[in-house]
Order: sequence, then structure tokens, then C-alpha cells
Amino acid sequence: MEKQDFDSINFQDIPSEFYCDSNDSVFEECTFCRKKLFTSSEAYMIEKSFKINQNNGKKNTVFEYAICMSCNLKKMNAMSSESVSNIKSYMQENFSQEDWELKTNSGVNLFEKCAVTGKNVEELSEYNIIGQFFSNKMVLGHFPILLSPSIGEEIQELLSQETKDEFDDFMNTINDVPPELKELFKTKRPVIV
Ligand SMILES: [Zn+2]
Repeated sequence: MEKQDFDSINFQDIPSEFYCDSNDSVFEECTFCRKKLFTSSEAYMIEKSFKINQNNGKKNTVFEYAICMSCNLKKMNAMSSESVSNIKSYMQENFSQEDWELKTNSGVNLFEKCAVTGKNVEELSEYNIIGQFFSNKMVLGHFPILLSPSIGEEIQELLSQETKDEFDDFMNTINDVPPELKELFKTKRPVIV
């Protein structure tokens, strides 16, 4: 990702799937440090977790956040090297680069299926979507991806106890995070690295 030519990066308007529930529009600030995302020169990530209401098929947001690169770096620095290398090899084994390129070039529905299991979104009662953004655009490349909840659980298992403790410390250093999100991060730590 870091080595990608700037010219080859594709941008598109932010899809409504990544809108913030509270204002039904794009995320304006980093959930953690409150940095303004549009005027900052940093890229950022958004993760949203949905649960499907089995009665009416509508999706409800379980949690959502935007994280700027500075906060993401802090989070990564809180991880032990053991955890980082575990996750990297997991990603290499399970994520197909070809698939990503195919999908971003062909204009197919980006949220059609789980990037790891290949399960169609219709079969999932819960899922997470993760995207990368810059200013008011979505960056197409490794992201966006849709993941089944089981992937998040598998990744959590790759984290060392040391990292889990450090994540808790990381969350404790961050102010202004809604308490429910803070609790959630402690039990169900963020997937993206
Ligand atoms: Zn931030």
C-alpha cells in the first residue's frame, strides 16, 4: 500500500454505507482525537459494523468510528511485534489481491461478499465494512472490504495478551470517545491494522 504510485490510486465519492449514523452524512472528525478529516492532510479509515434485523431485513449499526492515521499509528504502536507479524501472515494467506483489483476495476458492488470467506452478504446476519479515505473521497485499493464477524474473531485470536493489555492502555489514553465505544474496543478490539 505504501509503495503504491499516487497516480494509480483511484478515488470515488464516499458511499452512503460509510455515512455516520448520527448525522446521516459523512464523518467529519476522527472519533478518537476529533481532528477535522476534510481539512487534514491525513488519510483515515472508517469501520462500521452492521446487524441485520431478521424480521424486516433492515440493517442496524452496531458500532462505527473514523480513525485518522495518527491515531491508527498509535494503535499499531500499541501492538506487540508478535501480533503484527501474526496478522500480516493471516492477511497474506487469506486475502486475495487479485480479487480486490478485479472488484475495484469492474465497478461491481463492493459490498457483495466477505473478502475472506467469499460468503454473499445476503447470507450474513452481521458484518463489518472497512474503508480508507482521504478528505471527502474514498480511496480504492486494498479497501473497501466487507468482513464476516468470524474474521474479526479469528484476528483477535492472533493478538498476543501483551497487545490486548496495551490496547486497553491505548483506549484509556484517548479522551472523548463515547463510553460504549470504549467498552466495545476493550472486548472486541478493532480489526484494521
Ligand atoms: Zn485521530
